[in-house]
Amino acid sequence: MSDEVEVPEDHPRYQSLLTRHRIEAGVEKGITSQQGLIAEGRGEAFDYLLGEETIPSADEAERVAAAYFLLAEHPVISVNGNVAALVPEAVVDLAEATGADVEVNLFGRTEERVRAIAEHLREHGAEDVKGLTADARIPGLSHERAKVDSDGIYDADVVLVPLEDGDRAEALGEMGKTEVVIDLNPLSRSAQTATVPIIDNVVRAVPNVAAHARDLRGASREELEEIVAGFDREATLAAAERRLRGGALDRDGEAGRDGAE
Ligand code: ATP
Ligand code: MG
Repeated sequence: MSDEVEVPEDHPRYQSLLTRHRIEAGVEKGITSQQGLIAEGRGEAFDYLLGEETIPSADEAERVAAAYFLLAEHPVISVNGNVAALVPEAVVDLAEATGADVEVNLFGRTEERVRAIAEHLREHGAEDVKGLTADARIPGLSHERAKVDSDGIYDADVVLVPLEDGDRAEALGEMGKTEVVIDLNPLSRSAQTATVPIIDNVVRAVPNVAAHARDLRGASREELEEIVAGFDREATLAAAERRLRGGALDRDGEAGRDGAE
């Protein structure tokens, strides 16, 4: 397979094809797993139904996520093989915009893949990448899946976990962390257990959280706390599910409802 993508930018499914190509390249580079390929396929199906755009309720959740990051003492962005392949620049940019740490954290952890992902992130401008020490454990998970850095995710108060698996999302929640989950499936356990579920593609979500963070930089603590307090996670999940089930016909409905609330 070639490393180049030859898709004309005016192709109606340009973004989707580019995303697929990045995942393929990630697999070839040893940063994305076979499981990651399957996850990508599931994600694409949900994104197709969402209309491949950031719906208003997701944009709102992205703003809330940015507020949580700016309020945090120690925010961390958890990066797996799909996220590294899809949005390495955006992860680095979000870390810069919010002062967050970046930590490689894999469901199917191998030292080789952790190192390859850390290297890939550095190629995209990351300075300090955590996840290689793995000297702490998330309680309640089996050994390999529980490994994190003691000065990274273990110590974090706010964690962004894009495409996290349900068990680990739950275990992190039980540690008392504020969890921001990006997942295209509002019914997945990860989305269901998140403090802030973002039902959007990571390709759109991560840059948009960074944009909101820059926009909110001048905001006071009180203003940020107000944004966070006003968030209704159940309404966010319900809005996304309505969009998925109703499809294009329900679009005005969702926008109208969000606007009215
Ligand atoms: P669980 O209920 O345990 O969460 P699951 O079926 O969701 O099970 P996962 O391994 O978490 O299993 O699946 C990956 C998730 O990531 C799927 O929900 C999929 O929709 C989502 N996903 C895949 N690609 C993307 C993407 N680019 N952006 C956002 N979400 C994605
Ligand atoms: Mg999941």
